[in-house]
Amino acid sequence: MSGAPLARTVGFQPGERNVFFHLLTACNLSCRHCYINPTQHGTATLPLATVLQWLKLFARAERQTTLILLGGEPTLHPQLAAIIKAAKSMRYAVTVDSNGYLFHDLLDRVTPKELDYLSFSLDGPEAPVNDPIRGQGVFTVCTENIRRAVALGFNTSLIYTVSALNIDHLHRMPPLLADLGVRRFFIQVIGLRGNPAVQQPDGASNWQVEPQRWLAVVPQVAEAAARLGIHVVYPKVYLDREEPFQCAGMVAENFFIFPNGRVYQCPLCEDHPIHSYQIEDNRLVHRDGLNEDRFFPLTIPEGCVMNRLLQPDNIAYQPDGTPVHRISCCLLKQEVLPLI
Ligand code: SF4
Ligand code: SF4
Repeated sequence: MSGAPLARTVGFQPGERNVFFHLLTACNLSCRHCYINPTQHGTATLPLATVLQWLKLFARAERQTTLILLGGEPTLHPQLAAIIKAAKSMRYAVTVDSNGYLFHDLLDRVTPKELDYLSFSLDGPEAPVNDPIRGQGVFTVCTENIRRAVALGFNTSLIYTVSALNIDHLHRMPPLLADLGVRRFFIQVIGLRGNPAVQQPDGASNWQVEPQRWLAVVPQVAEAAARLGIHVVYPKVYLDREEPFQCAGMVAENFFIFPNGRVYQCPLCEDHPIHSYQIEDNRLVHRDGLNEDRFFPLTIPEGCVMNRLLQPDNIAYQPDGTPVHRISCCLLKQEVLPLI
């Protein structure tokens, strides 16, 4: 195949359903940009029986649902293998998002047939970039476990969270991923949530990436990865002039479940008690009041209303007061399909 790989926007599909299930909030690492918030999300490790009950609430017999198992570090859950097998039997397509440590011998306890994707996180193409962000020794552990997973036949993906600390190193990721045998590459952009919003001891408070920098770097890296046979996905972030704005809360089914039973539809809202649903006695209960779902229908020139409310520093304005870019829904993705 030849020609330039094309980035396309992955629109929200009717009936598509994604469940992001945080099984626990505990983690063995302390990444500098970690957004986990035990005050808002709880500190429990959900028992197996509870996880299975909650999975039943979101499964549909007639259609596959995508399930992403998260933490904290989900492989710290001692029954993760049983959860994966049960989810598969409920017609979920299952992904585990791990920091790479793969506790409880996960690779020996599930098969590539049972786990659709095993996703790893790295924030640099080598240890001197990655480890100051994610922790000493993390690069070596993570890449060794990626190689083990690939050798055993698991589909692997990798998440790279772009910030001002590592955007200059992103272009060195595609060759590394090709060498490791990673099939999908998710490029995320850091949000002004949790630690990144706090003044750092070294005085660096803004880890955000300027729009021009993001647009100059990320599409080119995605194209380079696609040329190496890797499927790349990254957030749209800025809408083109002619592109329609859509809020996933209005047109898609996404559920972000936390161990304290909170269920959000919008990930930007996760640090605030404005979740649309609560799981009570193993039932999904819609919450009345001024919660996230009351904001989704609002139409503003900036695009995403939650971004305007919670991350206003992300938006630049023209002298006449109109926004320079409209901010897309944070769940809207661009993808570049592999060229080989
Ligand atoms: S691995 Fe994930 S949950 Fe753990 S500290 Fe890093 S960002 Fe937070
Ligand atoms: S990020 Fe914005 S557009 Fe997307 S679901 Fe949340 S409020 Fe809606």
